[in-house]
Formats: sequence, C-alpha cells, structure tokens
Amino acid sequence: MKQPIAKVRGMHDYVGTEFAQMQTVINIAAHQAHLYGYQGITTPILEKAELFARTAGEASDVVMKEMYRFTDQGGEDLALRPEGTASVVRAVMSEGLTQTLPQKFFYSGAMFRRERPQKGRLRQFHQCAVEYIGTQSPFADAEVIICGYRILQQLNISATLEINTLGRYQSRDSWRDALRDYYNAHRDKLSQASIDRIARNPLRILDSKDAGDQAINNNAPLFEEFITDEEQNFYNQVKAYLDEAGLEYVENPKLVRGLDYYNDTAFEFISDQIGAQGTVLAGGRYDGLSEMIGGPKHLPSVGWASGVERLMLLADFGKLNMQRNILGLIPAGDDNISHAATNAEKLRISGIAVTLIPNGSMKQKFNRANQLGLKYVLICGDDEIKQNGMKLKNMQTGDEQLLTLDALIKKFAQSDMGQSVNV
Ligand code: ATP
Ligand code: MG
Repeated sequence: MKQPIAKVRGMHDYVGTEFAQMQTVINIAAHQAHLYGYQGITTPILEKAELFARTAGEASDVVMKEMYRFTDQGGEDLALRPEGTASVVRAVMSEGLTQTLPQKFFYSGAMFRRERPQKGRLRQFHQCAVEYIGTQSPFADAEVIICGYRILQQLNISATLEINTLGRYQSRDSWRDALRDYYNAHRDKLSQASIDRIARNPLRILDSKDAGDQAINNNAPLFEEFITDEEQNFYNQVKAYLDEAGLEYVENPKLVRGLDYYNDTAFEFISDQIGAQGTVLAGGRYDGLSEMIGGPKHLPSVGWASGVERLMLLADFGKLNMQRNILGLIPAGDDNISHAATNAEKLRISGIAVTLIPNGSMKQKFNRANQLGLKYVLICGDDEIKQNGMKLKNMQTGDEQLLTLDALIKKFAQSDMGQSVNV
C-alpha cells in the first residue's frame, strides 16, 4: 500500500458548506465594491519575483522569509503572489491604463505566504481587495475605507477601525531614523525578532505583539513629532470625510503596515472575536509603488485587502440566507430513470436546482436524500408519469402532493426551494 498523499501544510480544501461560505463572502464583497463603481480585475497568480521584491522591500518579512519563490524551467525567477496590490499596479501599466486614470478595481483570489500556520493564518489564503488607482484626493482614502466598512456591515461583522498617518518620504525617513536610534538605545530589552528589525525595518517593531517590546514601544518616538503641515492637513481631511459618513474610528499612532510601500493613510479593521489574528481588512495609500516597478513616478493610489478566511470566521451566516436549497428527484423503479432525467432537465432549464438520485432501493434513495439534507424530494414513478406529473414530498412533514411539471416550475422558480415555500 502506498502512503496517501497529504495536502500541503497551511493549505486548505474548501468543501460544501465552507465553499458556500467563501463564495458568499466574496459575492457580498464584490457586490458592495460594484455599488462604489469598482470594476473586476484578475491578475496571474505567478509573477516575476522582482515585482514583490522591489515593492514590499527586500527587507520586509513577506519577501525575506515568506515568499514562495522559485526558478522555473526557463530560468525565470518567479513567485506565487503574496499580495495583489503590486500586481494590479503592474497590470495598469501592462494594459496601458495610465492614460485613463483614475481606475477603480475589485479582485479576489489566492495569496501565498510561508508563515507559521495557526487560526486565521494560512500559507495559501484568500483575499478580496479594492484598489483606487491614480487619485490624489483624500476623498478616495475615505471612500475605500467606507466601502470596506459596508462589506463588514453586510456580513454582520463588527470590527474597530484604527487609522494612522505614516507621512511621506522625507518626514517618514526622519521618523525611521529616530526610531532606529531609540531602539538601538533599548536593544537589550527587545525580543530577538525586533532586534533583527532595527536596521532594516524599525517601523515594524511598533507592531510587535511581544510584551517586552510593547513596554519599550510605549515611549518610542511617534510620527506626530515629524509630521509636516501638508501631511497633517491631508490626514485631517480623510478623518473629516469619515466623520461625515458617520464612521467611528480610533487613531492609533503605532499602526504600521507590513509592506514598505505605504505612505500617509494606513488603516485596519480589527476584531476581538478571533484571537491574535484579528485584523480582517487593512490597507493604505501607496503613491510611490508605481515608481518602484518602473511605472509613472507618481501614481497616487489607495486600497485595502481583506482576509476571506478571517471574514468567514466572523460572518454571521445564519443571517445571510446563503443556503440555496435543491430538489431531490427520485425515479421509482429502474425503468423510469430516463423519464426522471428528462424532467430534471426541464426543471433546470427553468432555473430550478435538481439533483437526481438514480441508484439503489427506494429506501436507499430516501436515505441519500436525508444525508444530503434535502427539504423536498420529487418522486417520478409509473403512476405519476401516467398523470403527467411528479409527487412532491416534504421531507420534514412527510406531506405529499402530485403536481404537474408546469405547476412545479411555477411553485419553485421564484423561490429558494424551501425557505419560502410550504407544501
Ligand atoms: P498580519 O499582520 O495579520 O500578518 P498583514 O499586515 O501581513 O497581516 P496584509 O498584507 O495587509 O496583512 O493583508 C491583508 C489581510 O489579509 C490581513 O488583514 C488578513 O486579514 C489577511 N491575511 C494576511 N496574511 C494572512 C495569512 N497568512 N492567512 C490568512 N489571512 C491573512
Ligand atoms: Mg503578515
């Protein structure tokens, strides 16, 4: 006997209900994004590794440790995408869209990061995301945040919105230098992971979950010491738009993002319901990303990405009416299979979901219907065929009723097969 091949660590199969939940989350997000005028985009899962190495910063965690990077048979240095923003900006250039800015995109799909798997943290996970590309206006920052908020609201997820400003390049560089000096002075009290970050990415230490690091962070220099009037002004406008929309938020001066390309606005929606991996939707402004990949020097843009698996942990699916029920169709007797199949096909053409249960004894077929959780079963036997119809059985009450095909279509075409129809 050969060993069965296991699935790859940190990667998931989504079967049945989980698949439906994932689809529901993505559909709701896509629909909300559509209401805000975002167009769909799909980019390849494989990109040149350099796309992410240049944009995330060679020093960031994603590129240093987490990227699935390999050389293919033709010697190309490729990576499974760890995130989508760099790909979308690349696509804007590849597809010649820089002449028709701004562009608003929604996408969803698999992302890959070789992290330590735990609740809410996978190696292949899924994101849905929006990118508002080619706009300088603080209104865009507010709009993407509000759109994200609406999606969470539609999923019945309550999460705290935290916002911060990271400023632009010069003031941020000064802040980074000040942080580096400060952390160097407190080196002996920091965790090893944070010590490793002092030289290459000191901002990220602010985000540390380590208690010792957090004590040091309490007195770390904050960006407000370095912020320029222009940056403050921009931040104030973003907040004013959020206020106008009635969104509540908490300003968190220690909020930084994992990727290096962010400037000005940074934000996260955080839930306290799913443990340590509580960030469900996060993003910010990335005006300089385009230049990093050889695009226009200044392509002001803002967006967010949300972890679909984390949304699935939090969403209240009971309220989301995602169950689309299906009808079972049982041929009574082997001779009637083709007749039953023809009827099933007619129902499907009318938009009614039907699964045929063709094999076994009647008892086995009904057992199968119960196993599938079907609320209704149609029975197609000699008598029913003679009367030009099928018997509809309510599996919960046991009630039966003979109906013609037309009557069945009328009954079920506008329903979701079971939630609003009584026999
Ligand atoms: P975290 O701090 O949780 O690692 P991040 O800053 O790396 O998040 P982003 O790159 O901004 O996250 O990705 C956006 C969202 O994608 C996160 O807020 C989270 O919901 C989700 N996400 C990120 N990494 C993972 C993962 N390994 N597994 C599942 N979801 C993830
Ligand atoms: Mg991360």
